[in-house]
Amino acid sequence: MTSVSELHEIFASQKAAFGQQGAPSLDERRAHLGALAQLVVANRSRIRAAMSADFAVHPELFTDLIEVLGVAGRAAYAAEQLAQWAAPQEREADPGLFGSARAAISYQPKGVVGNIVPWNFPFDLSLGPLVEMLAAGNRAIIKPSEFTPACGELLKDMIAATFDPDHVAVVTGELELATAFAAVRWDHLLYTGSPEVGRKVAVAAAQNLVPVTLELGGKNPAIVNEDSVDAETVGQILGAKMIKNGQMCITVDYCLVPRAKMQEFVDLAHKHVVERTPGYSTTADCTGIISERHLDRLTGLLEEAGKKDGQVVSLEPDAKIDRSTRQMPISLVVDPSDDLALMREEIFGPILPIKPYDSVDEALAYVNAGERPLALYVFSKDNSVADYVLDRTTSGGACVNSCALQGALPSLGFGGIGQSGSGRHHGIEGFREFSNPRGVVRRGENDLVEALLPPYGPLAEAVVT
Ligand code: NAD
Repeated sequence: MTSVSELHEIFASQKAAFGQQGAPSLDERRAHLGALAQLVVANRSRIRAAMSADFAVHPELFTDLIEVLGVAGRAAYAAEQLAQWAAPQEREADPGLFGSARAAISYQPKGVVGNIVPWNFPFDLSLGPLVEMLAAGNRAIIKPSEFTPACGELLKDMIAATFDPDHVAVVTGELELATAFAAVRWDHLLYTGSPEVGRKVAVAAAQNLVPVTLELGGKNPAIVNEDSVDAETVGQILGAKMIKNGQMCITVDYCLVPRAKMQEFVDLAHKHVVERTPGYSTTADCTGIISERHLDRLTGLLEEAGKKDGQVVSLEPDAKIDRSTRQMPISLVVDPSDDLALMREEIFGPILPIKPYDSVDEALAYVNAGERPLALYVFSKDNSVADYVLDRTTSGGACVNSCALQGALPSLGFGGIGQSGSGRHHGIEGFREFSNPRGVVRRGENDLVEALLPPYGPLAEAVVT
């Protein structure tokens, strides 16, 4: 555990080092990115073990793909793109006024950046954004979630073995440290987590006028067009829900399905689980729910739906929740009323409400009546239907005919809008988020600057015309 005073000391030493050493060269940054990629790959088996310790069950494929290779690939991509991202961008300067002056936007590091991390992707959300923070030349302090203590300790250990503490550091602690972390006078603060806590973090940052990136959650819809209620679509949607058993910010929160095809959707979902993943919730593919408290919250959502609507359909009717592994089977909730908690809150678990609609416009009105989501999915064989939906909705990201792919590309800026967040990381958008785009003018010759010194004369005709 890190004390609040230790946090302040690390921050002060990073600030001092940044002030003394300034921006690292591009070669130095590429070396930092290489070290980061090497770090996750070399620690792959320890990362797998920590993920299993914190989640009780965590599929190795997804640890490898997201927490290890995702970070390494992102670092390699940033290193490759860095020269292009960091190149100053020349801007026009009217020669009639500015003579031969040169103007450019020059990207410089912001300085010391804080990163508050949720529990669901402990390495990906700590080290992934660190890629663009380091690419932009910053120093950083990371605070993992108290719900993933094994991952937090491992992160601390890994980072301390590779980076100087005045360059990158990890601090661990409970709410007292989290609150103090949000109150530090960062040069930039990244927060990933729930909108409720995000609001508190934004308020704390505003006290110091610290710029923040907020990566929040919400209710991501999947709109299934009538031409796409088939095994492929249902498989894609359930597949996305099965990643971390629904504990993913860009999972499908609820589905909108043509009214006449609701039963077909339910039958296809049953078939998918029976044929493709029999006994899913007892296998190593089913991630454990992060804590007893979250498990209770999820069962509470289902109980309320069962009492009010009676339309809870388990996709594994014989399966039970295993309290020791915290594995929970997937359930559909068919045509839930909107006053249920599961239609008001982000579900973040293996529950998929499916709502009927009678026209695409009605589905769009339903989506647009809610908060702007982090992700929106549309399934249609007809591109014009997909475009119709994309043109009339606003979300942080979107994917057509699949789910979550928009979060998997290191090249594509990632983030929310409105209640699902603001700002971006990943790719050039991430590089720019953690950079100060400084406008720099280098004065040349034959300009009108001299004419601006008193005593002032009349405005030159050349300027007016
Ligand atoms: P959370 O908001 O409970 O916690 C996130 C982090 O905030 C943790 O590190 C926690 O210690 C810290 N924290 C808690 N209270 C704080 C306070 N008062 N001041 C400062 N920090 C505080 O979120 P969670 O339960 O860990 O994560 C789940 C949420 O995260 C979901 O809403 C999910 O959608 C969202 N999420 C979003 C993204 C994204 O990229 N947009 C990614 C993953 C998760």
